[in-house]
Amino acid sequence: MAADTARTLDADKTDGERELDRLFALQKKAYAATPFISYDQRIASLDKIIRLTEANEEKFIEAISADFGNRAKHETIIAEVVVTVSGAKLARKNLKKWMRPRGVATPIHMLPGKSRIEPQPLGVVGIISPWNYPVQLALAPAVAALAAGNRVMIKPSELTPRTSEALRDAIASEFAEDECVVITGGVETGQAFTETPFDHLLFTGSTPVGIRVAQAAAKNLTPVTLELGGKSPVVIDESADIAAATKSIAHGKTLNAGQTCVAPDYVLSPQSKLDAVVDGIAGAARELYPDIDTTSDYTSIVSDRHFARLKSLVEEARDRGVKIVEIGSANALHPQRKLPLTLIVDPPQDIGLMKEEIFGPILPILRVQSTDEAIAHINGGDRPLALYWYGSDNDARDRVLQKTVSGGVTVNDAIWHVAQENLPFGGVGKSGVGAYHGESGFETFSHMKPVFYQSKFASGSLLHPPFTARTDKILSFLRKIL
Ligand code: NAD
Repeated sequence: MAADTARTLDADKTDGERELDRLFALQKKAYAATPFISYDQRIASLDKIIRLTEANEEKFIEAISADFGNRAKHETIIAEVVVTVSGAKLARKNLKKWMRPRGVATPIHMLPGKSRIEPQPLGVVGIISPWNYPVQLALAPAVAALAAGNRVMIKPSELTPRTSEALRDAIASEFAEDECVVITGGVETGQAFTETPFDHLLFTGSTPVGIRVAQAAAKNLTPVTLELGGKSPVVIDESADIAAATKSIAHGKTLNAGQTCVAPDYVLSPQSKLDAVVDGIAGAARELYPDIDTTSDYTSIVSDRHFARLKSLVEEARDRGVKIVEIGSANALHPQRKLPLTLIVDPPQDIGLMKEEIFGPILPILRVQSTDEAIAHINGGDRPLALYWYGSDNDARDRVLQKTVSGGVTVNDAIWHVAQENLPFGGVGKSGVGAYHGESGFETFSHMKPVFYQSKFASGSLLHPPFTARTDKILSFLRKIL
């Protein structure tokens, strides 16, 4: 389908939409001229990503911090720079292996033919990224798409405009427009982007927007990978080491001030351990951030709107008489939008905090009587992006893992399955469609093309018409052996 048939007439388009069309046409033309990017060119592209990420480290640190109000420098180095560069290095190291055709077994009646799966670039890939890790979530999918030999167009979030500009300039400093390019703009640009007939579209963001993205992409039958969010539970088992578990939960929840797609959303604690869990998380958070007003280690909430939403979720719980434990300064500085870690102890299920993804440093801690109650609670909601289980009782662990479905799991820690590049990363159900990272990312952005190589000694013609008694004999033999 031509781009314009799915979108508005050219005369009605904004300048941003015309620029989008121009770049898409340019990339399509380049793809048509060179549909298969060589191994060497792909390695060169991965090197460009590594170079531009490292060269712009300081700019990214400053831009993200300015966009957020404050973003801990080390969080930017670890979660944006190191994660992106190490993902690109892993792709570089494994690219030859990933690009190789995969041999598969050929059934006896089709021998001596050969069967292979041959990875092929899809063409032009679109990437829509969110604001919470604005460099990593734009570049990590680009690494996978470039490794797979595609051309890439990235639409970053309008909520981090300085970072989007820095990203646009950094990409432009290394790549030609027909190889990899960043398009900035607001929600309208995002909508036009989703209506562009890409060969694949990867969207990272919220579930409601993800649904709209999938609907727009469906008009072109553009395949989508949707990296979404949701309420990721923590299950603390009776067998857990509470001191170790609460330390790790406090870290997972306060990283980027809870604005992490795989942040623990709420905790299910054994009834008997509830007080120890609340005290443990509070104590661990105080050690991480002794004074959130003054430390630059604690990240701000990204916008006044997001800050107000989080505050009102806490106020609703307060109005309902729920026990609230605020860790750190009660008069956290509004200009910097720093929100202290706030524990909500055993809230009712019908408050906002228990109905929507929190995406900030507020942590409901619920008491449960048993593992089965924890499982039932999780299965009563949408399938989460991540699940965390703490304990040493392997039977209880396996029961939770087998009876719940989540995008991914870390056992006895929080967040870290995401950083294991050899594990596919993605959601399931409302938390996402498809996956990337490592080889799974390469495959997401490749057409894994099945090819059957027939042999000149093929025997298939024995089953051609005219059908005779000999055909029946061969058929009866085949039906015995197949
Ligand atoms: P969002 O859905 O509001 O926006 C994401 C992107 O989509 C932005 O670039 C935005 O400009 C664009 N956009 C908004 N409306 C659009 C539309 N109608 N059509 C096309 N594009 C549109 O999400 P956000 O607030 O930026 O990010 C937070 C959400 O993202 C959370 O739910 C979080 O869990 C999720 N998330 C998921 C992952 C993951 O890897 N699974 C990672 C980070 C964030």
